[in-house]
Amino acid sequence: MACKSTMYDPYENAVKVMEEAMEIGHINKAMFEIIKNPQRETKVYLPVEMDDGSVKVFEGYRVQHSNIRGPFKGGIRFHQDISLSEVKALSVWMSLKCAVANIPYGGAKGGIKVDPSTLSKRELKALTRRYTFAIAPLIGPDTDIPAPDVNTNSQTMAWVLDTYSQLNGKPTPGVVTGKPVELGGSRGRNSATGRGVVISSSLLLKDYGKELKGTKVIIQGMGNVGANAARIFYHRGAEVRGVSDVSGAIYCPDGLDIEDISAFLETPGSLLKDYDAKGVVHITNKELLTSECDILVPAALENTITEEIAKEVRCKYIVEAANGPTTTEADLILEERGIPVIPDIFANSGGVIVSYFEWVQNIQELTWERDQVNSMLEGLMTKSYREIASVVSEFGCTYRMAAYIVALRKLVYAEEIKGIFP
Ligand code: GLU
Repeated sequence: MACKSTMYDPYENAVKVMEEAMEIGHINKAMFEIIKNPQRETKVYLPVEMDDGSVKVFEGYRVQHSNIRGPFKGGIRFHQDISLSEVKALSVWMSLKCAVANIPYGGAKGGIKVDPSTLSKRELKALTRRYTFAIAPLIGPDTDIPAPDVNTNSQTMAWVLDTYSQLNGKPTPGVVTGKPVELGGSRGRNSATGRGVVISSSLLLKDYGKELKGTKVIIQGMGNVGANAARIFYHRGAEVRGVSDVSGAIYCPDGLDIEDISAFLETPGSLLKDYDAKGVVHITNKELLTSECDILVPAALENTITEEIAKEVRCKYIVEAANGPTTTEADLILEERGIPVIPDIFANSGGVIVSYFEWVQNIQELTWERDQVNSMLEGLMTKSYREIASVVSEFGCTYRMAAYIVALRKLVYAEEIKGIFP
């Protein structure tokens, strides 16, 4: 098992799926070499003066996969296990995601190899500012627009925005999305990815003649995406039976009180392993993933639905809130078992869609109401779901293949029509 997870290469995984989708969708492969490789990979070394006076050098990345359909777009992740292969895969998925959502962006991703929980706020701020300084020549409101991702948030974006604006000599809100509303962020952006996961789930259920009310849901991961999805599921009448964080998982057969759990998690440093309430039991991550439910939502990192887990899941559907949670081998097993998977590049696109709305508001110097943002998000996601569903019927393929076909058709068409420079 340990051997398998170290061998897992997310970029190879992404390329394999793209190749298969091109095959199934009869897409011209002439441009594939261009599409599979990022346009630029940048690695930076970031010295930071630590609180104890020592100097540490951190590694950072920005991979710009494609800007054929519009500026590069994608989050910044802080994680101790981050690798170039992972950032590359994440940048590919951003290009595909923006194409599926039909928003005028390409794809990129960045990150720093660090466990942010080991740094003080001052150290984290210094590291974020130094990283922004290092990639500043590459980013900008119409070149490459970062956003939050795993372990980064609106505070991180405020530091990125300020550093960039200082260098640029003027406030430049359009350089990042997912920033605080007070600094030009959009209402509804913080919960947008989680909201999109719930929208995807209800579109899927509708196709099966079902509704969210009473649907049993399990969510792996209570970061920004998982926690917001849990709250919105809960308020729409779904029964969230199990959730987890890095410390462990909790389960209640009658449904968890998500408001109580959210309030508990609000205290900095609190972990689910210490949560206690009537009827709640503590279980392992594997037990959580293989608990009986209607919808399983992996909302943590890549490579969580492995072959082993895929054989044992007891859900009716999987809705991927994380990027790349399911391996290609696991996908085959789920297909054989008749478990539909709503893929990441559609299911978690709510974040980048509202990032797009934020950027549009910044450029036009407008502010929109939350209800307007939420209903526009629902409208865009419904439209792209219909596009994916029609490809599912056209080729009799999985939702993942269909989403990839939808995206690759757009990317290949854009490559073909512009031609190769020079
Ligand atoms: N990090 C998010 C994602 O993976 C959002 C990206 C963005 O808003 O640019 O989709």
